[in-house]
Amino acid sequence: MKKILIVEDEAAIRGFEAINLNRAGYETVEAGSAEEALELFDNEEGFDIALLDISLPGMDGFTLCKELRRRTGELGIIMLTARTQEMDKISGLMMGADDYVTKPFSPSELLARVDSLYRRVDMHNSSKRSGSSDEIRLGDFSLNIRKRTLSKCGKDIELTQVEFQIIEYFFTNPDTALGRGDILVKVWGEAYYGEEKIVDVNIRRLRMKIEDDPSRPKHLVTVWGMGYKWNTEE
Ligand code: CA
Repeated sequence: MKKILIVEDEAAIRGFEAINLNRAGYETVEAGSAEEALELFDNEEGFDIALLDISLPGMDGFTLCKELRRRTGELGIIMLTARTQEMDKISGLMMGADDYVTKPFSPSELLARVDSLYRRVDMHNSSKRSGSSDEIRLGDFSLNIRKRTLSKCGKDIELTQVEFQIIEYFFTNPDTALGRGDILVKVWGEAYYGEEKIVDVNIRRLRMKIEDDPSRPKHLVTVWGMGYKWNTEE
């Protein structure tokens, strides 16, 4: 059973989320506060995804996200944000959360995001179960983590270490917008004080290597105002 933890203090919104997710085949567990959510998480097993509202009484959604991440890297986390100002904070937080949805949202939008994240969480867990986590396949591409190689339709693509690390970051977060700042920290490290342009330069070079038409990328696409994402949809 696909199990979701819903953390939202407004009962009407929480109920709305639960009903729609239940209809789509998800089991839901509801919490009205971050404190309650942590208690549930610590005492129950099998959560795949957590939906976290940001404005909560007591501990807020950001802190809750951090607390959950401290416990596990395997839980999928989606933040629900009401105000556009929260977006700035969100992008800084994307290291901990996997995705975010802006309120108000339609049931279909929420479901699409949950389904997409669930696929990733499930893929990750099943590759771990089968012990084949060395290799990540996305469409025509195959990334071998152990050998540190990337191939497209069976043909090897030469990558620098930095390029490999960028691709690895995208492949472990497919269909997720990754901010330039996040990529910078992930690949170049926390102590790197250079410019985010270095990310753009590397992305451009990567596109030359992996895209059929680098000026019209289909895989490594730009997310305007935010960064980049690896697109698995055709
Ligand atoms: Ca709230």
